[in-house]
Amino acid sequence: MAATAAGLPVVDHHCHLSPTGEGIGAARRFRAAGGTHLFLATQNYEAGVPLSPEAYERQFETTLGLARAVEAEAGVRAYAVLGPYPVDLVGQVERLGAPAAIELQGRAMESAGRLIEEQRAVALGEVGRPHFPTAPELAGPVEEVLRRALEVARDVGCPVVLHAEELGPEGFRGLVGLAAQVEFPVGRLIKHYHRSVLPTPEYQGMVPSYLARRETVAAALATPGPWFLETDFLDDPARPGAVLDLPTVARRAHHDLAQHPDHLALWEVPFQRSIQQVYGFTPEIDARGNPR
Ligand SMILES: [Zn+2]
Repeated sequence: MAATAAGLPVVDHHCHLSPTGEGIGAARRFRAAGGTHLFLATQNYEAGVPLSPEAYERQFETTLGLARAVEAEAGVRAYAVLGPYPVDLVGQVERLGAPAAIELQGRAMESAGRLIEEQRAVALGEVGRPHFPTAPELAGPVEEVLRRALEVARDVGCPVVLHAEELGPEGFRGLVGLAAQVEFPVGRLIKHYHRSVLPTPEYQGMVPSYLARRETVAAALATPGPWFLETDFLDDPARPGAVLDLPTVARRAHHDLAQHPDHLALWEVPFQRSIQQVYGFTPEIDARGNPR
């Protein structure tokens, strides 16, 4: 087990695990590298795009089962993040037509919302927009579904983990405007897989979750936050190296703290203070370094 800095949990804010991938083994490698807490986002585990509310319910239960297994078998605390993947909408519009596809995404968000209210999950996500250009006729449905996500999360009172193309100041401004329209608190709107560290005011109250590349981490540590770190680990053996490996956040933190013990307060920003500010709870470890 890698030495853990005194009292500091080590948190990956966005990853995926699959029952048919490495699964719990990847969480064990994260733990062995000194990681203690994971935000585990759902994903499609079945072939093809979900076409019914029941398919999404099955998917969410699989994620919740994986989270329990991670806790029991890898000794890592796992927080589930549930929602219909925005790219699903493309196939759903094709197969079901736009109105039924929008309705299906809404139903999936409502069942995710119920699981969050039951405190089995902590956020709605990842929801948002496809990260690639889509046909013009999809623009309306995409925006309608995104608006619905913010409404559901507003009513549940939970954060939203947003999947979208890389955003600049203008992109953040647009989302902040949409959040204001539906009265969703912008401080709970997280842009996941963000790759460029902007001056904090340019996020306009939204919260970046940075892909934990070395240069990005160094730049983020110089900013006040709130911000998070993630690997977006996909646990897909067919796509090794598509994103970062699961132990990366833990390795970055321990490597930096070994060289700069005085950085402890900086690392509390992504691993504790930002989580308290956005989610309303703080990851903790016990005296032996195990997650509480
Ligand atoms: Zn993801």
